[in-house]
Amino acid sequence: MPERIYNFSPGPAVLPYEVLEQAAKDVVNYQGKGLSILEMSHRSKDFTNVINEAVDLLRELMAIPDNYKILFLQGGASTQFAMVPMNLLGPGKTATYLNTGTWAKKSIKEAKPFGKVVVAYSGEETGFDRVPEQGEYTVAPGSEYLYLVSNNTIFGTQFHQFPDVEPYLVCDMSSDILSREVDVKKFGLIFAGAQKNMGPAGATVVIIREDLLEKTPENVPTMFRYKTHAEKNSLYNTPPCYAIYVIGLVLKWLKGLGGLKVMAEMNQDKADLLYKAIDGTDYYRGHAQKNSRSLMNVTFNLPSPELEAKFIAEATQAGFDGLKGHRSVGGVRASIYNAFPREGVEKLVSFMKAFEQKNRP
Ligand code: PMP
Repeated sequence: MPERIYNFSPGPAVLPYEVLEQAAKDVVNYQGKGLSILEMSHRSKDFTNVINEAVDLLRELMAIPDNYKILFLQGGASTQFAMVPMNLLGPGKTATYLNTGTWAKKSIKEAKPFGKVVVAYSGEETGFDRVPEQGEYTVAPGSEYLYLVSNNTIFGTQFHQFPDVEPYLVCDMSSDILSREVDVKKFGLIFAGAQKNMGPAGATVVIIREDLLEKTPENVPTMFRYKTHAEKNSLYNTPPCYAIYVIGLVLKWLKGLGGLKVMAEMNQDKADLLYKAIDGTDYYRGHAQKNSRSLMNVTFNLPSPELEAKFIAEATQAGFDGLKGHRSVGGVRASIYNAFPREGVEKLVSFMKAFEQKNRP
């Protein structure tokens, strides 16, 4: 392996090196067939195999029941903010949303034109430092769904349990899909941009329960109807072929590691290391309340913005990239998705200790 920096980017994010190597080979010559994966028709037999394999692996890894469709769409997770209510709401219908951060807020805004939106919880006043417990909010009577963001990438908070609600949950899992096991049956719809835990940017995975495909109002355009894509195995039009292919490689890698249970243990172990370092001193202060801490995005502050800037500058020099907190919150954010190596977390912890010693105010 050539020398690689430790890439703490929140997304697009680090990918397994073996996946990159395989993808690089197939970009030049796909499995010795004399053409690039980039040049292949989406209608070809080879690509049909690529997409079917990705769907089957995702179904297997996440234990997705047969009455759910798996779609690979474009437009990013942000398009789903509108596509969900466009398909599942309508005049006179209600949905309940939990406002746990920037991405939840954006989805609330996008839902409003399509029905009645009830915001049952907002973490805005406490700087989105936690997610709510079930029982702290009420799902509005007659709601079509309860919408939540499983992991708040910017603030570093995460739901460690999903509420049991009727009739079903809709979840933006962009930044923690495939990081742990989830009970898919609780969800009517799950979506996730690929560029954090699944592959490169360009594809958005949607997992949707089949009966919901019938809910879409008549006036929704063809490309924005889930059913259009579900009926054609995501091949109604040209899909994000390359992204789907790389997702397939990542899924194979995950399966080879032992699947989501093993992945979850690895993620817990990595996050514990970092949180232990934060809790071991008053120099670093975690942004999230302890029981809402994200295992994917670890957010923390130093005693001053000046020290934070110095920390990030010196960390970058030392080969740690992407640690700057989101512009809306500042501080430091270490994104340690599935493919981020434990060794990188260990090295960051050593760096933090040394930095503190040299820079105590
Ligand atoms: N939801 C979450 C939780 C995210 O972290 C992001 C991107 N960081 C988005 C949605 C938006 O994704 P996209 O850029 O694919 O639209």
